[in-house]
Amino acid sequence: MRLLEGKPIAEKIKEEIRQAVSKLSRKPVLASVMVGDNPGADAYVKSQARIAENLGIEYRFQRLAADSTENQLIDFIKELNSDSSVNGIIIQMPLPQQIDYKRISQFIAPEKDIEGMHPVNIGKILFGKANILPCTPAAVMELLKETGVDLYGKEVVVVGHSEIVGKPLSLLLLDKFATVTVCHIGTSKAGKLEGHVKNAEILIVAVGKAGLIKGEWIKEGAIVIDVGINRVGDKIVGDVEFDEASKRASWITPVPGGVGPLTVTILMRNLVEAAKLQQ
Ligand code: NAD
Repeated sequence: MRLLEGKPIAEKIKEEIRQAVSKLSRKPVLASVMVGDNPGADAYVKSQARIAENLGIEYRFQRLAADSTENQLIDFIKELNSDSSVNGIIIQMPLPQQIDYKRISQFIAPEKDIEGMHPVNIGKILFGKANILPCTPAAVMELLKETGVDLYGKEVVVVGHSEIVGKPLSLLLLDKFATVTVCHIGTSKAGKLEGHVKNAEILIVAVGKAGLIKGEWIKEGAIVIDVGINRVGDKIVGDVEFDEASKRASWITPVPGGVGPLTVTILMRNLVEAAKLQQ
């Protein structure tokens, strides 16, 4: 078994980002917007700001009042859209309950949507023409690339079908001619999850339930990518029973340390890609 760690890949991508930044005519700018405050999100923003600075990216943080309305946030996004000094926009989660992320995310100009979640950018994935990919699916694709696996014709099982991970990831895998099976709560309720997982040459799990995937279900030699993040006591674990699974897998991501370290790096890569397209 080989451990599939995100950090060394993130370091390689960061070096590519630094090179790309040095070729831009001006420092790229990432506008980060938070509504209200939240200790977890504050820590995430600090880490984003540190990574951006380290890559030569200007991180412009703005906080709106916790009682801001959806329309106030939309107006603010529109200002950022028309500010030509801003290359990319990220709206920090969680948002207060009066604001629906799905609605407001559509107001970010597609060319500044560095999270790759605008319907236009998601739509481009369908045609294999996306410049900006959603960060977590793109991180999974980078991890798979690192294993050297040829996805053509492989049995890939994706567990989880959210808009942010499972669905766009399935499209990226199909684009590489993998045979993709997408499982979700309906699969579990029908008692069919184990059967599908046992068939997976490549298994990707993004659910958010510790221990959902039993180690003994893993096919001998499978590649296992665990996107799940769960707090159990004072530990962070994934969705796959790691110890048992690692006896069977050829490659497996640790949690933490697998997908996580790559997502922010890919956000920054998206920003630089957006800046290049805008210039
Ligand atoms: P979500 O809640 O939007 O979707 C969960 C998915 O799991 C759904 O498709 C649902 O049908 C499925 N599901 C729920 N219970 C199931 C069961 N018993 N059997 C099979 N499928 C089941 O979640 P999300 O936003 O896609 O996130 C999933 C997990 O990935 C979470 O733990 C989240 O914290 C983590 N995550 C990690 C990163 C990262 O950077 N590492 C990024 C995004 C999400």
